[in-house]
Amino acid sequence: MNSYHLFREKDAFFVYHLDAGRFVRVSPAAYELLELRGAMSAADAEVAFRAGHPDAEDVLKDVSALESEGFFEPVEAPVKDEMEFEAELDERFSGPCNTLMLSVASGCNLACRYCYCGVCRDELPNKGLMPESTALQAVERLFAIADPKIGVRVTFFGGEPLLNKPVIEKVVARCNELAAARGQSVGYSITTNATLMDGETADLIVKNNFGLMASLDGPQPLHDGQCPTRDGHGSFAAASAGIRLLLSRGARVTVRCTMAHPAPNALKLIRFFAEFGASRVVLGPVYNPMFPSSCDFTEEDDRAFRRCVDDDVLPWMVSEKKAGREPIYDPFEEIGEFQGEKTHPAKVPGLRCGACHGAMAVAPDGTLYPCHRFVGMEKWALGRLADGPDPDRCKAFWRNYRAAMKGKCGGCWGYRICGGPCPWEIACADGTFKMSTRHCEDTCAWVRQGVYYFNAVGETGCKEQGEKQQ
Ligand code: SF4
Ligand code: SF4
Ligand code: SF4
Repeated sequence: MNSYHLFREKDAFFVYHLDAGRFVRVSPAAYELLELRGAMSAADAEVAFRAGHPDAEDVLKDVSALESEGFFEPVEAPVKDEMEFEAELDERFSGPCNTLMLSVASGCNLACRYCYCGVCRDELPNKGLMPESTALQAVERLFAIADPKIGVRVTFFGGEPLLNKPVIEKVVARCNELAAARGQSVGYSITTNATLMDGETADLIVKNNFGLMASLDGPQPLHDGQCPTRDGHGSFAAASAGIRLLLSRGARVTVRCTMAHPAPNALKLIRFFAEFGASRVVLGPVYNPMFPSSCDFTEEDDRAFRRCVDDDVLPWMVSEKKAGREPIYDPFEEIGEFQGEKTHPAKVPGLRCGACHGAMAVAPDGTLYPCHRFVGMEKWALGRLADGPDPDRCKAFWRNYRAAMKGKCGGCWGYRICGGPCPWEIACADGTFKMSTRHCEDTCAWVRQGVYYFNAVGETGCKEQGEKQQ
């Protein structure tokens, strides 16, 4: 595998060293020489380069500086071998777990055009609401298996979790009680459409410092078109009132904006949410491999979104930052963190996410699933709350995932950053994984754009050649 990867973003040229996890901005001429070195021996590349560049000395010096920093040394295959992987599985599934994800309501009061759960889960027992006894059983289990030396975290999601406010209140009260008795901290988060927010719930949320993700898809006509109520009315008024209520009480609200086909202009959306007063905005395209619909982003939509980030969003982010403001849309944090690690060699990613353990979700009927996105997919169930997850199924989940992605990801320059696809995105309804590379172009664009952004605003990593890595 090549030890470095070259890419350009807008007017900037970069080289990424896989093992050191370093990005360096280089001159166009050095980039050209590095391209030649990728295609032929170092000596032939130098001859070919000199032929077109009589004043080649400075560039050759720059590239030999990279050489002395190890840019051309061979790199190890980045995917963990079988034994390391099995050891990681054993460690994960014998260790504590401090996170609980509760689907307190499978149904929803809305019927978003891109959502399969607003309508089809009505037939579930108890209207898809989690009984108090199930929720409290999950809480007892959490505290029984949590590491007492660190805090616990409880996430409420649905459907629409605020359809089941009484159970949320009971869970918070019991968790606070147990945590206080053990001297542990407890944190909460909720994902909601905010339409059912009221003063009492807002107080509970603010008092307990919930992390908040509220869905709003944009200005009223867009949101109402995408997210009607169950009886066909728009939901913008109720959702925006709920979010404003939270903001007025001092909560920080991250708005989750779902982008459906055809791709909207991302910068217009961001500006709308900035004016609205959102603390942060996350943009997510509709993509549902298990339940495809006409709202799904097409590959052309993906390209249009990437172009819009290149042409409109990045310049806006850079100007915000240079004006001393944190952009409310910043999808590049992880790249900043990755740069900040400065490990050498770069850390080989472990299991992609908390699926089957830290992110394991409890459905209203007490069935356990790998994470919130799998809830209701029978073939992916991991066991029952009363017995805990089946460790064999949990391990099989990850072994099967690894088998599906290893070939493609093991040879990918970006594996140490990407860590492989989201397991849900390559999960099939029959309980198997099928690798898809749809996500890969997005990942590569995200890295390019993130590195460009950090370089443009002079933050971590992505140093100009000649600057010392901090
Ligand atoms: S608010 Fe969320 S859960 Fe409800 S229908 Fe819309 S996408 Fe589905
Ligand atoms: S970009 Fe694609 S191939 Fe590369 S590591 Fe990520 S999922 Fe795997
Ligand atoms: S499977 Fe995907 S959605 Fe679920 S926790 Fe992992 S990364 Fe997140």
